[in-house]
Amino acid sequence: ARSREGWQWSPNGTLQQGLPSIGVIQPPRNVGKTSEVFDVIVIGSGYTGLTAARDATTSGLKTLLLEGRDRIGGRTWSSNIDGYPFEMGGTWVHWFQPHVYRELSRYGMIDQLVHSTDYSKKHNFFSFATRSGRREMSHEEEDELFARAVQKFVNVDGNYGKTVMPFPFNAHWNKDVLQYANMSFADRIAQIQHDLSEDEQHAIESFALLCSGGTRDNSAFLDFLRWWAAGNYDYKTLLDTIIIFKLKCGQSGFAIRFFKEALETQNLAYAFNTAVSRVDGTGDVVRVLTKEGDEFQAKRVICTVPLNVLNKVDFNPPLNQAKREASALKHVNQCVKVHAEIKDPEMRSWSGVTYPNNKLVIGLADGTTPAGNTHCVFFGCDANHIHADENIQETLKAVKSFAPMDVERLVFHNWSKDEFAEGAWVWYRPGMEVKYLEGLRERQGAILFANSDWAAGGWRSFIDGAIQSGTEAALTVKEELLSRSPTSRL
Ligand code: FAD
Repeated sequence: ARSREGWQWSPNGTLQQGLPSIGVIQPPRNVGKTSEVFDVIVIGSGYTGLTAARDATTSGLKTLLLEGRDRIGGRTWSSNIDGYPFEMGGTWVHWFQPHVYRELSRYGMIDQLVHSTDYSKKHNFFSFATRSGRREMSHEEEDELFARAVQKFVNVDGNYGKTVMPFPFNAHWNKDVLQYANMSFADRIAQIQHDLSEDEQHAIESFALLCSGGTRDNSAFLDFLRWWAAGNYDYKTLLDTIIIFKLKCGQSGFAIRFFKEALETQNLAYAFNTAVSRVDGTGDVVRVLTKEGDEFQAKRVICTVPLNVLNKVDFNPPLNQAKREASALKHVNQCVKVHAEIKDPEMRSWSGVTYPNNKLVIGLADGTTPAGNTHCVFFGCDANHIHADENIQETLKAVKSFAPMDVERLVFHNWSKDEFAEGAWVWYRPGMEVKYLEGLRERQGAILFANSDWAAGGWRSFIDGAIQSGTEAALTVKEELLSRSPTSRL
């Protein structure tokens, strides 16, 4: 079926809105007006909501899943076009990400992992276009330059971050790390400026902005330290964990497993195209109102609405102060992710950076389509931001600024204008993490708040964090409603 989301452009055709996806659920709802009191209502069907709904239903809890979109997956979904899965949001996974890998293993999907890089083709080089012009280098030289620059960036303790953040899944374990709480990328670069060559500065800034999707000034350094620590304090391992291994079947082929398993229990009621407008937790049961005016009730609610749009839902009692303030401030990630199909199979071994004078910062070849074209993916950020759907010619120009390319097709999702996300993966402003994280995680009575944006783990902001967060929320609800003491699961 076709989602109304996403965009596709080809030189012969016009720009089209809406893309096919197996994540679109038909029929879109299996629940009508009802006075049933559900055990739990899960708001949102991203990986957090899917995991929570799966775990609740398989435990026997009567669960209602409400989703504003016409599809599952939230910020992670794929569109299969002419036999190739285009990943519109979350893409790469790794066995060092414990929660997501456990699920891949559980669904028997280990053989679905494919490698994004292939350095066996003719155009086997890295293009580097900076203030001082454009040049090509080998991928070995690329890795050496970026590893050197990133190491300088994170080396706050003479031990490449290992002393201040020895446990990425418990990032504030060493309180010394809190001295970096208010530091931005720009602040950290100012500290090491004397030791950075021009190339290294371009390298670290482009790489850090790829990670944050923000600007030098609004992106928190602490988030970068956590990614680095989760990537085992090593540049190549970090790359492996964040941008190398994706799924042959596309992310929607993974997400649908959670949904189907939940549905098979016959404990799952669901409604897509159903945005929640109000959650009232003042009575004996929680009342959830939709934009269309329907009302549903449950003993517990797991709200997985992401940070940047959380304050669009009206809560009674109101959201706590941390949630209100953080959601009003918003995280900074306005990543622009654009796929381009290039009519040259030899481009398969290419990657590049154009910084700081291009609308897209990093590009890499990422696959070969059944038609024999090279699939490349490009990333931009809030600095020098572009709305690709509003300006295709500018977007094409940005793609072609990396290297001469004959573009057959562009595919993308505009996350900045997405009413249910207003941004990409979470990246906090300086100070936000320490000030708000605890309050974001706090439950309010019978309403639990779960999302990758405030997941407790080292892979917060990743699919892994979403699965972790959904798992934990469902466990809490199970323990309370099935009267299991927390120790009974030992
Ligand atoms: P979401 O996916 O945002 O789910 C929340 C759901 O709630 C959505 O479906 C939304 O529609 C719904 N919702 C919101 N408001 C309402 C409402 N009022 N009523 C009803 N429903 C509502 N992660 C990786 O691990 N690897 C990657 O390579 C990677 N790359 C990424 C690239 C991009 C461009 C983006 C955007 C994200 C990427 N991520 C990646 C991050 C990953 O996609 C997210 O962290 C994860 O998908 C978040 O899942 P979630 O369920 O916590 O939140």
